[in-house]
Amino acid sequence: NDSLTLSMQIVPFGEDLKMLLSRDISQLEKLENMRRDFVANVSHELKTPLTVVSGFVEMLHDGLEDFSADDARRYLNLASEQAVRMQRLIEDLLALSALETGAPMPVEDKVDVHGLLRSVAQEAELLSAGRHRVTVKRGAGATLIGSQKEIHSVLANLASNAVRYTPEGGEICLIWQTTHEGAELAVQDNGPGIEAQHLPRLTERFYRVDRGRSRESGGTGLGLAIVKHVMTRHQGTLEIQSEPGRGSRFAAHFPARRVIKLETEKAGE
Ligand code: ADP
Repeated sequence: NDSLTLSMQIVPFGEDLKMLLSRDISQLEKLENMRRDFVANVSHELKTPLTVVSGFVEMLHDGLEDFSADDARRYLNLASEQAVRMQRLIEDLLALSALETGAPMPVEDKVDVHGLLRSVAQEAELLSAGRHRVTVKRGAGATLIGSQKEIHSVLANLASNAVRYTPEGGEICLIWQTTHEGAELAVQDNGPGIEAQHLPRLTERFYRVDRGRSRESGGTGLGLAIVKHVMTRHQGTLEIQSEPGRGSRFAAHFPARRVIKLETEKAGE
């Protein structure tokens, strides 16, 4: 009788355990697949520019006297572009891996939002080299509490994407405004837009709508993954709205407790 009760108790428990275990195993398999994909992606991303660099170097090494000075300079420039691309990828990978440790926000800088908008607008203008109209719409001055470096990287990544994907003659607007929940830093463009089916995956590492265009414009495929992590660390969110053919709007939302309005600060003085 005792053994009967025992087995009756064990059976349902055993089934639950099996289910739990198989759920954990499939979770582990998923993680392992993601890790494998990631390593394959990184290797591939590094291999392409490295092949170009070593190809040019070898070519010049084997027959320097066969090239005119102009040709040699052109090849060296191409090699150096690829070296810069590798450097950027490694910087982004390091930034991402530092963010992914999941450590709580250690820095509580006071970020001057108007100053941030000014400097990122300048960076965007440099990158655009006169091909776009870059404007800034800024609400009242404020200070954001968080990491200066990371918040700068959010706006800089969104702005550089807008410049890189919006065709010549397009408009790019950097926006700062308070919202119901706190405040948002947004970048709006009237570029090609993104089809709805891609939107949920844009913040995945190396996810690109158009691989060729991303690479050509110097993208690493990691920008939005970095933005998403930074926003999570700041208890904020990234909202993406886009309409194919009309443009996109990427908004980084910060919770109210990270926003100090300057008027309030002054009033309290
Ligand atoms: P990448 O280095 O490829 O730009 P990101 O993570 O920054 O990587 O962006 C992921 C993808 O999202 C890009 O490859 C591009 O397809 C799409 N994307 C990002 N910003 C824009 C934009 N402003 N307009 C159109 N597509 C965009």
